[in-house]
Amino acid sequence: MILPRFDYYAPTGLDEALSWLAEHHGSGVKILGGGTDLLVDVRGKIIPDQHRPRCQEHRDGPWLARYAPTESIEILLALSRITELRGIAVEVNCVRIGAMTTITDLERSPVVRTRLAGLWDGARQLGSPLVRNRGTYGGNLCNARPAADTAIPTLALGGRLVLASIRGERTVDHSDFVTGPGETILEPDEILKEVVFDLANDPAMGSAYLKLSNRKALEIAVVSAAAMVTFNSPPAEQGGIKGGVTKSARIALGAVAPTPLLVPEAGEALVGKELDSQSISEAARIAAGVARPITDHRGGDEYRRMMVEVLVRRVLMSCWERALAGTVEEAA
Ligand SMILES: Cc1cc2nc3c(=O)[nH]c(=O)nc-3n(C[C@H](O)[C@H](O)[C@H](O)COP(=O)(O)OP(=O)(O)OC[C@H]3O[C@@H](n4cnc5c(N)ncnc54)[C@H](O)[C@@H]3O)c2cc1C
Repeated sequence: MILPRFDYYAPTGLDEALSWLAEHHGSGVKILGGGTDLLVDVRGKIIPDQHRPRCQEHRDGPWLARYAPTESIEILLALSRITELRGIAVEVNCVRIGAMTTITDLERSPVVRTRLAGLWDGARQLGSPLVRNRGTYGGNLCNARPAADTAIPTLALGGRLVLASIRGERTVDHSDFVTGPGETILEPDEILKEVVFDLANDPAMGSAYLKLSNRKALEIAVVSAAAMVTFNSPPAEQGGIKGGVTKSARIALGAVAPTPLLVPEAGEALVGKELDSQSISEAARIAAGVARPITDHRGGDEYRRMMVEVLVRRVLMSCWERALAGTVEEAA
């Protein structure tokens, strides 16, 4: 991997970073979290000689463009020394997670595990231990990929993103944040500061995330699904699935549209009903009908749509089990 030459600025405070960004933003300036996406995109790829076509006519042909960097940089604004951007804080009604919190931090947090179990599932399934140690929550969200493993549960859990600039802060729903593959509403002088999750006082709540991929690690999802369900009263074991009247439900899908996809109609279909096999199947069918997957090397569109139905059924069952157990800890 050959990195281009670039300058590097690593302020220690958020205000300092925002002032610098207000002055310097523009072409060639990039924000650096853990770098596990960005540094891959800016590298020049080394192509061993034996991998080049032997035929002289094609040796340096247009195919080389495929190996060109997809991003260019002149200055990196590194956020790693800004301690206020890293950490998980529990307040009376909400949990705040700093953008520079690593994926490993999420995976190891008892609060995330018990209160935001779907996000915990997403963190555990992202990449490998090495990638999770460097990669950050903010980077995964700002990279804005339709299959990003923390983005789908963030959407289902109703996460709100706090975007900061010297002009002040604004808070947006994750559902409004991503506008296309790799594209967000972030202005060039803005930094994602933190993500806020409201903690409702419902008698019972469960969330879950599942990812289907062609390998067990280091693999982007073929399809993924997340759900959060709250209940009017704690569900009870009645043999099989299940019982407990649904107060609210949010279902989100990954890798089936250009952006992470919230399916409000699937969640609404559950409201006021017992969460049983019939209502779960109905919500899963609705979600599969809304999905607009493509066919690529990871899977066909029809296969993906079928798998949406399966994954949504499973995450809803998992929500029920977690709500019943009270915490993931007890359910495990
Ligand atoms: C081998 C490998 C395997 C991977 N596997 C997975 C996987 O299974 N699932 C998955 O979802 N991802 C995977 N990834 C992608 C990547 O690791 C994650 O997306 C990671 O969370 C990105 O975080 P980062 O801090 O490294 O982001 P960076 O690379 O630092 O940044 C990513 C983008 O976000 C911007 N950015 C970062 N932080 C901020 C901020 N606070 N405010 C504004 N903009 C910001 C950057 O400018 C850049 O455009 C993998 C990557 C590798 C290299």
